[in-house]
Amino acid sequence: MSRPIEAVIHSAALKHNYQLIKRQAPTAKAFAVIKANAYGHGVERVCAALPEADGFAILELDAAIALRTQGITQPILLLEGAFSPLEMQRCAQYQLMFAIHEPRHLQWLADTELERPVDVFLKLNTGMNRLGFPAADVTSLVAQLQAMANVASVTLMTHFATADEPEQGIAKQWGNFQQHCADLNMPATLANSAAIFAYPEVHAQWVRPGIALYGSSPFAHRSAQELDLHAAMTLRSRIIAVQSLQAGDTVGYGASFIADRAMKIGVVACGYADGYPRHAPTGTPILVAGQLSRVLGRVSMDMLCVDLTDIADAQIDAEVELWGQRLSIDLVAQAAGTIAYELMCAIANRVPVRTN
Ligand SMILES: *Cc1c(COP(=O)(O)O)cnc(C)c1O
Repeated sequence: MSRPIEAVIHSAALKHNYQLIKRQAPTAKAFAVIKANAYGHGVERVCAALPEADGFAILELDAAIALRTQGITQPILLLEGAFSPLEMQRCAQYQLMFAIHEPRHLQWLADTELERPVDVFLKLNTGMNRLGFPAADVTSLVAQLQAMANVASVTLMTHFATADEPEQGIAKQWGNFQQHCADLNMPATLANSAAIFAYPEVHAQWVRPGIALYGSSPFAHRSAQELDLHAAMTLRSRIIAVQSLQAGDTVGYGASFIADRAMKIGVVACGYADGYPRHAPTGTPILVAGQLSRVLGRVSMDMLCVDLTDIADAQIDAEVELWGQRLSIDLVAQAAGTIAYELMCAIANRVPVRTN
């Protein structure tokens, strides 16, 4: 037997979440967002689980080309656009749609010979101040693009900074978008996962769900269960050693956990080199033999310790769920002071992945 850690990807959960999103945004098409190796779930695995997806959004060109080569025929959108004129040519060659967010993109589009005209997504900065042209310039930008022989179609695109926070919401950015774009009557894509659930008015022609597809809640104030999202990844391992402690004994590096009574602890074959967050403190929830327990002391590179004192049938080899179908990744992320996005993306290469 090999080291007992594995990540299991649940195809049925991906399908369920995609369909739930489609019911939330019934008039829009949906790009399943599969950047960063599909948030750690595996691009090919997620595409195979979602043959019904209207399209895919990604930002790694090589991965996009690989999908085309494997016969994926749906629209594929590159969210950060092309990084050189040569990449633009490859986008045209493989029929990849791409974002235009920077003046030099216009230059490349005007100056580069492309195999066929391309579908571009004109990214507008409506207030996030990350990527995009000023929304106030949209009319002249659209005119410029539509006059180019290389351009087959233009779709407007913007991204919200606070769609997940009810206090700030999208009002300012949505107002800005409408002020400059409403009269143009053009196809658009605005909504990430949070906006799909919270703001039906911005569904437009295409929505762009990422995190919800993978079964994590886009909101700090609403659980995945409340939204009926199903976990698409379970990270599990086993207890590989058991130790008995006396009051005053310590656990792990830095001796940061000190037993205040006799305790039984378990050592789990999972550490930060597997993608478990090193900052998960004592008390972070973890399931042992199906029962809720807690992490104790510092997470090491290859191991972490858990409290077995009150878990009757927790012996060596007992199954441990780090996160997944029975323990929400959102609870682990919250305890570790981060978000589920980061945990999913950090799953290490050495963790074997299996689909079920
Ligand atoms: C990552 C990303 C998304 C998906 O966001 P989620 O919060 O994961 O739903 C949508 N649009 C763009 C431009 C992105 O970069």
